[in-house]
Amino acid sequence: MDYEELKQLDSKYYMEVFGERMPAVFTHGKGAKLYDENGSEYLDFLAGIAVNCLGYSDEGFKNALKAQIDTLIHTCNYFYNEPQARLAQMLCEKTGYARVFFGNSGAEANECALKLAKKYTYHKGSASDRFVALKQSFHGRTLATLAATGQEKFHAPFRPMPYDFTYIAANDVKAAKAAISGDICGVILEVIQGESGVFPLDQAFVAAVRALCDEHGVPLIIDEVQTGMGRTGKLLAQEHYGIKADITTLAKALGNGVPIGACLASEKLAAAFGSGDHGSTFGGNPLACAAGLYVTAKIDDALLAQITQTGSYFKGKLAALMRRLPQSILDVRGFGLMLGAQLSEAYRAHDIQLKLLKEGFVIGTAGGNTLRFVPPFVIEKADVDNLIGALTAALK
Ligand SMILES: *Cc1c(COP(=O)(O)O)cnc(C)c1O
Repeated sequence: MDYEELKQLDSKYYMEVFGERMPAVFTHGKGAKLYDENGSEYLDFLAGIAVNCLGYSDEGFKNALKAQIDTLIHTCNYFYNEPQARLAQMLCEKTGYARVFFGNSGAEANECALKLAKKYTYHKGSASDRFVALKQSFHGRTLATLAATGQEKFHAPFRPMPYDFTYIAANDVKAAKAAISGDICGVILEVIQGESGVFPLDQAFVAAVRALCDEHGVPLIIDEVQTGMGRTGKLLAQEHYGIKADITTLAKALGNGVPIGACLASEKLAAAFGSGDHGSTFGGNPLACAAGLYVTAKIDDALLAQITQTGSYFKGKLAALMRRLPQSILDVRGFGLMLGAQLSEAYRAHDIQLKLLKEGFVIGTAGGNTLRFVPPFVIEKADVDNLIGALTAALK
């Protein structure tokens, strides 16, 4: 099917939630490269929004999936399931959490986290349904995760929202002190706010929120759906902050493209869920867990060091470009392979994204007129140099 035919089919039959899509149809990929239906090559700095962490067509990954497809793709959660139990063990051992629940997406992982914190609070004898979240956050598209998302534009048509969220500004320690008390169910935050523009939280703020949660016995939920699985050079981005959440959620990179989300919790929190409190038909099925097992085993110290190295090289290049073109790039943020470059008002991030696509580079955008770079971990310094060259030309 050619591009025009496909575009017509999509605009006739698919719900219009994605607006006009980017003008390319990818048919296959290899490493950090994607190819479209005309055979044109693209360097990928988006990775299906921080999902395809091992790049495309990884032999070991394909073999792990094929072996699982050849034996058992799905069995329901009435039965024990070896890939699920092994992935649960591996994630708990690598992160220090006690227990895990698997869903199919980031939103489901966060939905589970919110339910778990609510049930924990209920267990303590409180009827509170109050949570604290941050302004400019993003936690997903289900109703509860939308409620946790501190951006009014997402709420307006869908009110009433479940639960009672108080939104505080990122890095406002005073507001955190005022909002966090013994009668809330939990606090949820991303340590690097991804969708709203790649904004890392301040160290002092994260430490203060952790201390306040400890002081009041309130669960801290850290949404690592985008930042987790090595993206920032640590398995979990919260390690950069030297703290540990009571509940951590994962998804995007965990399955390298096979849908899976995970909610990890300490024993104290996990114990709040009893039989029948939560569930999923597909969640943690053998195919998804075979994918998760392969990815989780791959993220070792050597790969994390490589992510840190390539990431700091990339960030250095973006910072140098900002110094050369201070009228064009206002800020460069993030760490590891999760970087953002905020453009001046003279540009629209989406226009630069389209220009770069024409030149053979796939990049993302985020809020605040920001270019977002979340490439596969296999990206190389030479690829970064090529992108910087094309970006320099696109900003001229
Ligand atoms: C993408 C994302 C989500 C939502 O994940 P889905 O798989 O789209 O449901 C939640 N939180 C963060 C931080 C994300 O980046």
